[in-house]
Amino acid sequence: MLEIDGSHGEGGGQILRTALSLSCLLKKPFRIFNIRTGRKRPGLMPQHLSCVRALILISNAKAHGDVIGSTELVFEPSDPKAGEYFFDIGTAGSTTLLLQAVLPTLIFQRDHSRITLTGGTHVPFSPSYHFVSDVFMPILAKLGITLHASILQYGFYPRGGGKISIEVSPSSKVKALTLVDKAEPLKMSGISVVSDLPLSIADRQKNAALEAIGRSGLTAEIETYKVTSYSPGTFLFLKARTQDCLAGFSSLGERGKRAETVGKEAAEELLNYDRTTACLDHYLSDQIVLYLANADSESSFTTSGITEHLLTNLWIIEKFLGIRYSIQGEKGHPGKVTIIP
Ligand code: ATP
Repeated sequence: MLEIDGSHGEGGGQILRTALSLSCLLKKPFRIFNIRTGRKRPGLMPQHLSCVRALILISNAKAHGDVIGSTELVFEPSDPKAGEYFFDIGTAGSTTLLLQAVLPTLIFQRDHSRITLTGGTHVPFSPSYHFVSDVFMPILAKLGITLHASILQYGFYPRGGGKISIEVSPSSKVKALTLVDKAEPLKMSGISVVSDLPLSIADRQKNAALEAIGRSGLTAEIETYKVTSYSPGTFLFLKARTQDCLAGFSSLGERGKRAETVGKEAAEELLNYDRTTACLDHYLSDQIVLYLANADSESSFTTSGITEHLLTNLWIIEKFLGIRYSIQGEKGHPGKVTIIP
């Protein structure tokens, strides 16, 4: 059985999610130990356990150690099935990270699936729903993977209760991708959103972002609007694109944080990306490698940042799939990734 040290590299939840995804896809059992042992609250947290439980159901898997706080898990998948699935994280845990775990298995089935997920849709340290719908999914479409997402209810920390629904069309093979040249100037756009708070906060977020972007001699179109949710929240999502390249940056409001700070945060991330010649942002880079590792031939892309998440994800993918890959550049700096399936 494949043995995985969960404390390797970044040592977080992503090792577990990638291991679960590839285990189900390849029907390869694994044992993972030291799960999140370096974290303040080690082991499986509700958000991670919801990924395990979801894939037990989808893959008719057997598991040992699937309890809160567990630092060890044995997972044996049997027969993954497409279908209609509903999962409720029960907290404001990220729906998009649960999606990250279950998508690969469902994409490569013969039939269509629909997944409805309840939890947080715009929560810290995870892709926002808009990052998934406007950045992750369009890049997957270039690989020949067709997904449709809709947001039925927004979910912010602490109450969560957001709901997203994803239609998954089956894909039998993944096209390789070469995204290395951000030759043209970026087109920038975004949304500034509030829930159960005055629209003036969304305007302030937008204006602060436009000011920061303007100081660099650039422009963006940002729309503002109001939504409803169980607990109040705000966010700004900015997107940058050329014909080939695409990147997204989200910042979230919280009690005591000024709207101007929310505006500046996402804008500064976007400007840092703009200063590089890279095609993909440092978030999408770690999220896309699992798919490129399953492509029909060699892929390469430039990234605005070689992160520990990216390196760790490549490490775990290599363990399951035996891919070859190379990285040009140093950790913490822009670089180029090549993957040979
Ligand atoms: P842990 O709690 O153990 O740190 P986790 O399960 O919360 O781990 P990570 O292992 O840190 O999650 O993985 C986070 C994932 O979320 C990565 O794929 C990362 O690219 C993505 N992510 C984090 N922030 C953003 C963001 N602002 N935009 C897009 N993606 C993001």
